[in-house]
Amino acid sequence: ELADTPLAVRGLRKTYKDGFVAVRGTSFTVEPGQVVGLLGPNGAGKTTTLRMVLGLIRPTAGEALLFGHRAGPGAPVLSRIGALVEGPGFLPHLSGLDNLTLYWKATGRPLDDARVAEVLDIADLGDAIHRRVRAYSHGMRQRLAIAQAMLGLPDLLILDEPTDGLDPPQIAEMRRVLQRYATDGRAVLVSSHLLAEVEQTCTHVVVMRRGELVAAGPVAEIIGDSPSVLVGVTDP
Ligand code: ATP
Repeated sequence: ELADTPLAVRGLRKTYKDGFVAVRGTSFTVEPGQVVGLLGPNGAGKTTTLRMVLGLIRPTAGEALLFGHRAGPGAPVLSRIGALVEGPGFLPHLSGLDNLTLYWKATGRPLDDARVAEVLDIADLGDAIHRRVRAYSHGMRQRLAIAQAMLGLPDLLILDEPTDGLDPPQIAEMRRVLQRYATDGRAVLVSSHLLAEVEQTCTHVVVMRRGELVAAGPVAEIIGDSPSVLVGVTDP
């Protein structure tokens, strides 16, 4: 039943104004409880795909359905989606918690303290949440950004390269954050150019190369058994 499927992408295609085809008709789904990795090297079309999914840019062909609805301003399902596709601008002189509160107020939705506490726990920000963002490391800022996307405990969380620029311990922490999040049927779609990261974090993988969908399925099947499809897909 499509209304229960967090994301169904069908024949999604994007030709930019200069004629460049960034996504060449890609199809995949994200089901409840799955952590789906959108894997491919820089320029594969991951960001373009996520921006179409979120309704930030218009597909040239095909469609992306979030719980059975097309994304876009005023879409009835927006409250069920959380996303981080561009670094949010935090106010450095305010604490992490004040930044999150300010952001949430702007959404006009009621703030649920129990939810905030749960999200802070998942994002493992600890006491640092009361410190000014100015004092945060890059990894801490990233986790605050993820926490912001998680604030409403959305049924589908969409993240574009959340580990970009992080060191290995911070990447491991991010992995634990995403895995803690994907319980109770909540789903995650996360892009990455790192094969090992997707292998360790995700249940399913969608492999892209130069705008084309190379393979999609459970991580154990795609990465475990057919490494040949991955040749040229990931950075060394
Ligand atoms: P990255 O990790 O570098 O963001 P990606 O897989 O997310 O890679 P996209 O950002 O989707 O890739 O870009 C795919 C291709 O589309 C790239 O070659 C990029 O140069 C091109 N592209 C992106 N935006 C535009 C645009 N507005 N006009 C023309 N070409 C674009």
